[in-house]
Amino acid sequence: MTTKTTPRIAIIGAGPGGLTLARILQTRNIPTTVFERESDPDTRPQGGSLDLHPESGQLALRLAELFEPFQAIARYEDQEGRSFNKHAQVLPAGRPVEESGDRPEIDRTELRKLLLDSLKPGIVHWGYNLSSIRRATDGRHELHFENGVTEIFDLVVGADGTWSHVRPLISNAKPFYTGVTFIEFGLDNVDQDHPALAQLVGHGTMFAKGNNQGLFAQRNSHAHIRVYAGMRIPEGWETKAGFDASNPHTARKWLFDRFADWDQSLQALILESNDHFVVRPLYMLPVGHRWNFHPGVTLLGDAAHLMSPFSGEGANLAMLDAADLANAISTHSTLEEAVRTYEETMFPRAEDAARGAYQGVNRAVAPDAPAHKLVLSKAQGSEQAG
Ligand SMILES: Cc1cc2nc3c(=O)[nH]c(=O)nc-3n(C[C@H](O)[C@H](O)[C@H](O)COP(=O)(O)OP(=O)(O)OC[C@H]3O[C@@H](n4cnc5c(N)ncnc54)[C@H](O)[C@@H]3O)c2cc1C
Repeated sequence: MTTKTTPRIAIIGAGPGGLTLARILQTRNIPTTVFERESDPDTRPQGGSLDLHPESGQLALRLAELFEPFQAIARYEDQEGRSFNKHAQVLPAGRPVEESGDRPEIDRTELRKLLLDSLKPGIVHWGYNLSSIRRATDGRHELHFENGVTEIFDLVVGADGTWSHVRPLISNAKPFYTGVTFIEFGLDNVDQDHPALAQLVGHGTMFAKGNNQGLFAQRNSHAHIRVYAGMRIPEGWETKAGFDASNPHTARKWLFDRFADWDQSLQALILESNDHFVVRPLYMLPVGHRWNFHPGVTLLGDAAHLMSPFSGEGANLAMLDAADLANAISTHSTLEEAVRTYEETMFPRAEDAARGAYQGVNRAVAPDAPAHKLVLSKAQGSEQAG
């Protein structure tokens, strides 16, 4: 930035996108304030494992000067991919164990810690839940938080995910249901307590698909396997179906019944799971979502281009958006030029990925999913969920 006074930049959300932006700007001596609704870094586990791609997530970590510490904790040994039909027959679309592969895995909690530890104390304001944003008379933007605090900034970056509270100021688009819900559960200490399942899932990700549903399992660190049972099911189905995630016995039984005609080796993922079940309906923004330039406000990551996880790109794109925006802010003479440049790069890239994610979810959770998979593998396409 070459402006005479230091601009005030607010980042809403301490996810991978928001924290990467704060970190890269910090390396260029541009101060930011991150506002996060969670009360502290340990409020909740951050979720499953992510594979970071060289041209996006890893590139952003290089710019953040965090690539070496990332390499020290990344799981290069967990890059395998396996694919089955519901009879546990192997489909020819997997990836062999490849420790030299270039998409190593990292648990989200570890990635968040890496980014948080790299920030100067006081940058992240915990317990700041943005409730509204308003354009002030001087053209800057006022942020109103649930805790009663109001602050004013020159640039507000909405990195606040699916249900962004910044987005409505610049776009009418709302996330809509993809038609697919994940029920998440897990298995602990798998090498010792569930050796056959550890073997089945392997060192990476396993997809088993058929009949509008699938079991997607991924190896996480600390010998944990996270499983998503994906189902094409109407929105709000739980009430009708009597599914209660807080009752592990009935939840497990309900899930088992849905997969009753699947091979026993795959059903074991459900039967041997721990007691923690979470329902995750998958939402998306319209493919090609964009907005007219609005001085002083922009979006990145899921807030800008929420897509189903079947692109395997969401976190990677959020981090690449952050890298592009940080580059633009540090090289343009005004915030306005910087945001315009960033958005011109981000919109078409996000549109391509969102189209892939849309096709991915419709192919992966489909009546003829294995047939789709065979066609895809012949065309050397790829599908991912993580
Ligand atoms: C089941 C599943 C599996 C996935 N697997 C993969 C994968 O393998 N690879 C991949 O690249 N992507 C994957 N994704 C997508 C990925 O999780 C997201 O794209 C990524 O987390 C987006 O990062 P973000 O920083 O934009 O937003 P988020 O990670 O959603 O972070 C937003 C932050 O903003 C905070 N926040 C929200 N509202 C407010 C508010 N009002 N005030 C203050 N703070 C607020 C939130 O608490 C959160 O910390 C997956 C998604 C799902 C659902």
